[in-house]
Amino acid sequence: MQETQGGILEGLRSIPFPGSGISLGDLNLVQSIEDSGKEAAISLSFPSVFPITQEEFKVFLEHALKKIAPDKEVKLDIRAAKPKELNRISHVVAVMSGKGGVGKSSVTSTLAVGLSRSGLRVGILDADITGPSIPKIFGLKNRPMAGEDGFLPLTSAKEHIPIMSANLLLEREDDPIIWRGPLVGKAITQFWEDTLWGNLDILLVDLPPGTSDAPLTVTQSLPLSSVVMVFSPQELASMVVRKAIRMVKEKMGVPILGLIENFSYYLEPGSGKRLEIFGKSNASNLTEFASAPLLARIPIDTELSVVCDQGEIEKYNSDAMQEMCRAFLEALKKND
Ligand code: ADP
Repeated sequence: MQETQGGILEGLRSIPFPGSGISLGDLNLVQSIEDSGKEAAISLSFPSVFPITQEEFKVFLEHALKKIAPDKEVKLDIRAAKPKELNRISHVVAVMSGKGGVGKSSVTSTLAVGLSRSGLRVGILDADITGPSIPKIFGLKNRPMAGEDGFLPLTSAKEHIPIMSANLLLEREDDPIIWRGPLVGKAITQFWEDTLWGNLDILLVDLPPGTSDAPLTVTQSLPLSSVVMVFSPQELASMVVRKAIRMVKEKMGVPILGLIENFSYYLEPGSGKRLEIFGKSNASNLTEFASAPLLARIPIDTELSVVCDQGEIEKYNSDAMQEMCRAFLEALKKND
């Protein structure tokens, strides 16, 4: 039995919202409590993004409170709120690449999983509207919950990472999305404002690849803190990466947190020899050009492509992944 004010608050905050893997505290629904011994007045927010009504939420809370504080008379004050009023996101970090196919979505997903494992609350906004692959990498098939005020993201099976993607709103996952620039911007702004993320330490945004209008519009529609650039050694002698770096520096006005070289080398089974299959690393030239650190060199790993294909990224672990997350957090701290 928890009888102190903090006890009730902690108890309420740790309850998962019905039908979602996210707790009331992480959704930032519990606002305040006034405890006068026998009685307590609790104030909560309720945005219409859930499949239950405010009245049903109240009944759910009354049941929960009977267990948390059975002897207390509790008065509930539940107020409607918009998702954007409740979102508290410390860092919005975009993951970008000079072109498609370099592993941007795989890196975004492994980063999210690794950072979650270290106890941070991480979400993913899949803004790669023309080729959204994040739901597939996490094996998500359902549609997100939705109400008048917007959406509640789906959550990954193991780490409960909240994930929002245009693909989750399509009738069929292979339906094409043919949206032109302004519509892309509108859709992303809507995802941003109308999704209840709640409290997040980091929101990773998987950007459309390249240096066209699409990634630029997306970044201009979001309050980005920084950008991570993913590249591979064979990218046309790094010309496309330089273009992307220049776009961040000259047009986006956000710092580059760091660079990640994917498909960097292959560890020969048995000998453990590093083979640079796609050519020599260009990382040192690029880090100098970007004035940003190299966060990781990720090897070619067939296990990574298998877990991504099977929607089981949360089973994956590797030394390179852990190193990348450590370096990412260090860079984030320096950037603050
Ligand atoms: P992008 O988002 O840049 O288009 P993806 O993340 O979809 O690229 O990766 C493209 C393909 O390469 C996917 O099939 C993915 O599983 C695979 N892949 C990505 N990184 C690696 C890696 N380090 N080792 C092996 N396969 C990888």
